[in-house]
Amino acid sequence: MKNQVDLVHWDAEELGNHHRILSERYEAYREQKISLDMSRGKPCREQLELSAPMLQILPPDDPLRAEDGSDCLNYGGLDGIPEAKALFSQVLGVDPKELLIGGNSSLTMMHDTLSRAMLHGVYGSELPWGKLPKVKFLCPSPGYDRHFAICELLNIEMIVVDMLPGGPDMEQVEQLVREDDSIKGIWCVPKYSNPDGITYSDETVDRLARMKTAAADFRIFWDDAYTVHHLTSKPDELKSIHAACRTAGNPDRVFIFSSTAKITFPGAGVAVLASSERNLDLIRRQLAVQTIGPDKINQLRHVRFLPDADHVKRHMEKHAAIIKPKFDLVLQKFEAELGGKQIASWHKPNGGYFISLNTLDGCAKEVVRMAAEAGVTLTKAGATFPYGRDPRDRNIRIAPTFPSLAELDTAMDILCLCVQLASIRKILSER
Ligand code: PLP
Repeated sequence: MKNQVDLVHWDAEELGNHHRILSERYEAYREQKISLDMSRGKPCREQLELSAPMLQILPPDDPLRAEDGSDCLNYGGLDGIPEAKALFSQVLGVDPKELLIGGNSSLTMMHDTLSRAMLHGVYGSELPWGKLPKVKFLCPSPGYDRHFAICELLNIEMIVVDMLPGGPDMEQVEQLVREDDSIKGIWCVPKYSNPDGITYSDETVDRLARMKTAAADFRIFWDDAYTVHHLTSKPDELKSIHAACRTAGNPDRVFIFSSTAKITFPGAGVAVLASSERNLDLIRRQLAVQTIGPDKINQLRHVRFLPDADHVKRHMEKHAAIIKPKFDLVLQKFEAELGGKQIASWHKPNGGYFISLNTLDGCAKEVVRMAAEAGVTLTKAGATFPYGRDPRDRNIRIAPTFPSLAELDTAMDILCLCVQLASIRKILSER
């Protein structure tokens, strides 16, 4: 049977022999005392250097005034300088009036938006969400662990929804939101999703926009973090949720978040919230109590460095040139080491920051543990599901951008060994 690639068809002796050979290779790696951290999706140094000129872009004698004449060194400009709104308006395809430019982190904006909803409600709420006996959120999974962490912190119950090739399982979503008025929202990473790299289909966008919700103040938290982060010259297209919501007669349904964290600097980017004017009016009133204005100097730096969507596009092509070979390497390794063996499957994203690997059920934790013992730290198994619990214990998020190609090569060898060893043990244990 050994001429079959599919490990499931090997007999016990062949599997045992193969396990021995792979174990020797694994032990050899363990003795090398490698130390590689691939747990988070961070840009590498070369990517950060692409934006280094931005730090020198404001000359010492610059008046540091925004185009409306306001002094960027002083207080004010609560929702951002006009030229930053113009830039994000092009990138996100919304009217500048429907934008609020913030500080460094879109995650902060998401956290604050949900916290405000809990404390005060959103536009149109009869009660603050936090005054209700229960608040629930739909969490298409695998998904972004930090979204789930915000829900956990605010005591919002999370309901797992399956991810399908075109986005969340809309049958599930529609039924749940129609029947349960304690479901107040859904987390979405609609383009090059974290971690699957999936872009929502037009149909998914339309159904999210028009679905009937038992909660009148239901909101879509649309985290468009990877909106311009393409890896190919034929990028995925995402239909505008904002326009779809308006067309469906639900203009206040969506909060769109994004940032330049992975365009310029994660440590010094600019974040943005796009929504209806009514939603933003309420948020601005609440925000005015929290701050007298964001870091407008950083906004100014950004618009001088990336004045329009075309500059952003060309800048992102430079990122892709650095990270595409890393994605290709991971995919080649998976194909060469795991392909056809029926022990793993993975997505081939056209953009974003991750590759999502699914092992045989019940193997992900063991693979991550074994990789860590051999010096490769991966994102914790389970992290891509609410409460850190992957019901099938099979999803592993691979973040290829930060390590060098040489490091990635070693890390993927180790990971593929771990997947094979854990799979053989699982197959044998079930015989
Ligand atoms: N949203 C998603 C889906 C992410 O993957 C990340 C970072 O990994 C963020 C948001 C963080 O964005 P920011 O740096 O703007 O807070």
